[in-house]
Amino acid sequence: MKQADQIIHARWVIPCEDLSILENHALIIEKGKIIDLLPSPEAEKTYSAPLIEHFSTHALTPGFVNTHTHIGMNLFRGLADDLALMDWLNHHIWPAERAWVSHELVYDASLLAAAEMIRGGTTCFNEMFFFLQATAQAADQAGLRGKIGITVIDFPTAWAKSMDEYLDKGLGFYEEYKNHERLGCTMAPHAIYTVAENTLTKIQRFAEKYRLRINMHVQETADEVRQSLAQTQKRPLRRLQDIGMVTPDLIAVHMTQIDEEDLEIVRQGKPQVVHCPESNMKLASGSSPVQTFRSLGLNVALGTDGAASNNDLDMIGEMRAAAFLAKLSTQNPQTLSAGETLQMATLNGAKALGLEQITGSLRVGKAADFIAIQLDEIETQPLYHPVSQIVYATSRQQVSDVWVAGKRLMKNRELLTLDERELLRKTKEWQQKIKVNQA
Ligand SMILES: [Zn+2]
Repeated sequence: MKQADQIIHARWVIPCEDLSILENHALIIEKGKIIDLLPSPEAEKTYSAPLIEHFSTHALTPGFVNTHTHIGMNLFRGLADDLALMDWLNHHIWPAERAWVSHELVYDASLLAAAEMIRGGTTCFNEMFFFLQATAQAADQAGLRGKIGITVIDFPTAWAKSMDEYLDKGLGFYEEYKNHERLGCTMAPHAIYTVAENTLTKIQRFAEKYRLRINMHVQETADEVRQSLAQTQKRPLRRLQDIGMVTPDLIAVHMTQIDEEDLEIVRQGKPQVVHCPESNMKLASGSSPVQTFRSLGLNVALGTDGAASNNDLDMIGEMRAAAFLAKLSTQNPQTLSAGETLQMATLNGAKALGLEQITGSLRVGKAADFIAIQLDEIETQPLYHPVSQIVYATSRQQVSDVWVAGKRLMKNRELLTLDERELLRKTKEWQQKIKVNQA
């Protein structure tokens, strides 16, 4: 018998390397990694482990990769809704940020978001906000994997007063976390309308020097494109191409306003695209031509955007929205199948972050980042096809167990790394303070 740390048997295992579904298989885990994936009867003959578990009514899938978040803003969830992006930012979110954003707020918001992500089956996230150490400390404590953006915006915030300060603090963060086992960074210029072109050039050099991806909101709204054309006679993507930024190292978030010229630019440059359908629908920003990007060979991942504009960090809900929107906008129900959508929420996210050798699918050699979804509930019975059921009928409350690098973060809905009651207490305290200030 070969020895391992854990053997996890399940009714279904959905690796997401391709569209296959394995029945009655077991994941074998050793030192936080998947060392084998094989039929349960064979696993019983081949391996022994101190921890053997059976998930006889569950599907195991890779943990979700939420490829666009602002978890440091989680305490602003529901603060202002039903507004257009620029009204929402200028009159509600940026003033609230000026009044409240601090290390302490970002830490508490990130813990709240980490708890929500784990409860919804997310094991990896891609963050853009300020007070990077606060988010990193919260994510580390929670046990999550993630990329934290060295966020840059051309106006002073509580985090930094000048471009040099944003970059200096970013470099400090990079140095502090460059060898961390689960956390890393990206460069994250907020958007073309908030970061000047010479700053973008600096960021590009910085990203090349430290081999970091660039995470940026790109062509999120028609206004952004109009403003860019009025100021420079060029669309944002053309400006990014001119400074050499449209490459596979660009994580282009939203991409809802796309014309023929844009398509030619992305066909050549092959950036990573992050689709955030719920945020795009709620802010009426537009609809990203996901199927066209995919047909051009681009990798399209999925993100929720911040809870302040979505208003949740629910990747199962986001998958459903992505599939439905793709079908509606192409007027073709075959567009974005359930299996393709599940891959978008897992492996494609890992690819977008350059983590596809580490996470995003259940493959021997990768980290044991996976979840168990309880399918034996009224809401998901009868069950003819587990992947369809997960994408079209399951709620995030059915995620029962979560592991990152083989470590259990949630067991039968109970968080093991975070104190739920304390989180709720702190959140209510913040709500009181923020509400008084808003009134
Ligand atoms: Zn965003």
